[in-house]
Amino acid sequence: MFPVLEEELGPLTEFHRKVATTLEMVHVEAGVGNEYWFGRPVSNRKALARAFVAKAVSNAPTTKDFRNRILADPILRRVCGWEERNQVPSESTFSRVFQEFAEAKLAEQKHEGLIQRYLPDHLFGHVSQDSTEIDGREKPKKKPKPTEKPKKKRGRPKKGREDEVQLCAQAICLEEMRGIHIAAGALYYGKTRRRRAVTFDAALRELTVATAGRLHRLVEGGDTPDAVYDAGRCANCSLIEACMPRGSAGKRSVANYFERMLREGEG
Ligand code: SF4
Repeated sequence: MFPVLEEELGPLTEFHRKVATTLEMVHVEAGVGNEYWFGRPVSNRKALARAFVAKAVSNAPTTKDFRNRILADPILRRVCGWEERNQVPSESTFSRVFQEFAEAKLAEQKHEGLIQRYLPDHLFGHVSQDSTEIDGREKPKKKPKPTEKPKKKRGRPKKGREDEVQLCAQAICLEEMRGIHIAAGALYYGKTRRRRAVTFDAALRELTVATAGRLHRLVEGGDTPDAVYDAGRCANCSLIEACMPRGSAGKRSVANYFERMLREGEG
């Protein structure tokens, strides 16, 4: 069959061969004629019946898609029975006639005929299920608790000059990195919602350099200064939870604690 078709239509793809084979086996156009389909040309009905089968073979999602495929594929069009593109019926005709074929159970009739012709002694079973097992939850899924948002720091002006010194130290770092001069900066406090200008004058620069020098000496010497609680200073310090200056006030160190315990044990 295929050599004859290829001589007539040109090279066939696997899909064309599948459609041609199915149409040859099913012979769907037999019995489709004017006596059943009033008012329509027989040739169109037969071609539409062949297209009805070809659509099932193609797995086209919609009739519109399949009609577009027929228009774009001359071999498929000729296999169905339309020589010219303009002979292909409209989309509405396709839909209406396919609906009639479906209601007349054309596919089922042809399928039954095939079974009787080729497999008359076989028993066939068919199971249809309209439900599919899926994993479901009996209880609603627990929503994860929202994580606590980190508290925003809301600084406030200090009694001392520590904020100015820190800002000046950052400015000096930038000056050294970029080779520039920074004359002034600004401090903004969330508590007061105010911006305060800070001039990096000679006095502030001297204080900053001296403070940095002292810090370096402490680090190099390995000395940790005592945490001396100062209500005005410690209340605004971000290190208060790690430092615990109240607990260490009055020299309540670990060494003193052990010393006291030993004395009490001896007594
Ligand atoms: S909390 Fe500690 S580090 Fe902060 S100011 Fe007080 S003593 Fe100094």
